[in-house]
Amino acid sequence: MAAFSGSLFAATTPAKPAAPAPVVKPKTVTDWCTPLAARLPKVSVDDCRNTKLQPTGTNSLNGFPLLARDLSASAKHPHAIKVLLIGGIHGDEQTASAIVFKWLENIQKSSEQEFQWKVAPIINPDGLLAPKPRRMNAHGVDLNRNFPTPDWQKEAPAYWSRVTRSDPRRYPGKAPISEPESRWVYDTIEKYKPNVVISVHAPFGVLDFDGPTSPPSRFGRLIYNRVGVYPGSLGNYSGIHKDIPVVTIELPNASQMPPDAEVQRIWLDMQKWIRQNIVTSTKTVKRL
Ligand SMILES: [Zn+2]
Repeated sequence: MAAFSGSLFAATTPAKPAAPAPVVKPKTVTDWCTPLAARLPKVSVDDCRNTKLQPTGTNSLNGFPLLARDLSASAKHPHAIKVLLIGGIHGDEQTASAIVFKWLENIQKSSEQEFQWKVAPIINPDGLLAPKPRRMNAHGVDLNRNFPTPDWQKEAPAYWSRVTRSDPRRYPGKAPISEPESRWVYDTIEKYKPNVVISVHAPFGVLDFDGPTSPPSRFGRLIYNRVGVYPGSLGNYSGIHKDIPVVTIELPNASQMPPDAEVQRIWLDMQKWIRQNIVTSTKTVKRL
């Protein structure tokens, strides 16, 4: 699919964010998992607690902590590939968060770990926990259009008004990384310096890829098929402009999980692709 060209577009209409989502204020640590499990298919409160997710220090607009877990590689992999695995940047794609919980369980169970992981299953808790789960954060911003791609100020609002016809579900915000949730992802890429980013979505049932190495051909039943390049998207920002490969996994259904065997097949195929295609800066890089 052709990349977006900002030159097609002229002035923009004023931005109109969607109505704010109601405030959710968790009172204690154990409160995190109760509202999350109520929204996530096949994730119980105990499953959630067992993942030992920790607050990152960044809260959503409504005050819900962004949660993450760091897992080191085994000692025999001292220069392990660093993977940033995120889910749920769109709050109405519940399976995209739930499957990351399942994979986090796999990492915790495995006796030997060849990669170094930073896992954040719920990037947009306010969208997920809204009375009806919704794509955007509490400011009505589509977080996956809020990353600082070049010429964002010109391209992102123009694309929104002209191509999406000011679809409130795709509002990119007033400025790049204007939102605490997208800023956390941005800062994490800066500080953690992942060798690859995996971002899980639903419901298009495909794999998308942006970046300098070979795209995956398939994970489980999901086949590589370009979804597109958008101003302000994470794939565009990280994969194309930072040269950090981004795999976008689009599960086939936003509310119903794939069968357990498929959850595991996607997981195994993903690791195989990472092993074969991603290099760390400490190794000799043979770029295509
Ligand atoms: Zn999405």
